[in-house]
Amino acid sequence: MHNRLIVGNIKMNLLTVRDRDGYLQDMRNRLRNAVTRGVDIVLCPPDIHLEEFATILEKQSVSLGLQNVFWERKGAYTGEVSPVMAKSFGAQYAIIGHSERRLYLGETDDMVAKKAKCACEEGMNIILCVGESTEERNRGLSEERVLKQLTRSLEHFPKGKIGNLTIAYEPIWSIGTGHTPESAEILSMHTIIRDTIGKIFGSGAGSYVRVLYGGSVDSKNIERVCVDVDMDGVLVGGASLHPDEFIRIVEKLRIVS
Ligand code: PEP
Repeated sequence: MHNRLIVGNIKMNLLTVRDRDGYLQDMRNRLRNAVTRGVDIVLCPPDIHLEEFATILEKQSVSLGLQNVFWERKGAYTGEVSPVMAKSFGAQYAIIGHSERRLYLGETDDMVAKKAKCACEEGMNIILCVGESTEERNRGLSEERVLKQLTRSLEHFPKGKIGNLTIAYEPIWSIGTGHTPESAEILSMHTIIRDTIGKIFGSGAGSYVRVLYGGSVDSKNIERVCVDVDMDGVLVGGASLHPDEFIRIVEKLRIVS
């Protein structure tokens, strides 16, 4: 069995050098004093902060990731970051297909599939985000949506790289809203995701891949949205901006893992 995985998605925050340095100092001190054995922790800062995160957190039990990477390795792609660069500057993980990128940057399942393939071929661990919108949920289309996203996004994913794959179930209506699904909804989506992975890659893969929950996770609901529904960890947005709260989530998960 894997350790549970806790991923902090800092998004477009820590706007100044001062903000970043304050955050890093606080996070480093808290990580130093926390017992983190038995859980895996990943922080995904904005690209521009990656090197500093790698330097300051070097001795802590934390890995780093980016919030996105491009599907090509090198060349004339203004503004993009290659998985080769990401790895070289200290990121082992990449969040791919986050709903905010799908919404604001028009990322499609096809783009997501190309990114996931390229990043895993470069040896990165992929955190592939899937999840339904409010409208899809209201129309009873949640399962269909997630199934489609998974199948299309994993179209080119090499079977041999299945060990690099994590799925994050993030209902869009839950992100940043304080609303979370009922346990039964998470459980049912968890099963659908595992079954789909099993169908694509073979039954062993279905039980091997880590499946995370993401959407308004905090230290008060962590048992309900993760432990009680047997998820393999969480993707944390807002709460990762507060090192004290983030470490509370880590410690609660560690105790039950
Ligand atoms: C996210 O955007 O991945 C996320 C889970 O955000 P929040 O925790 O703020 O809902």
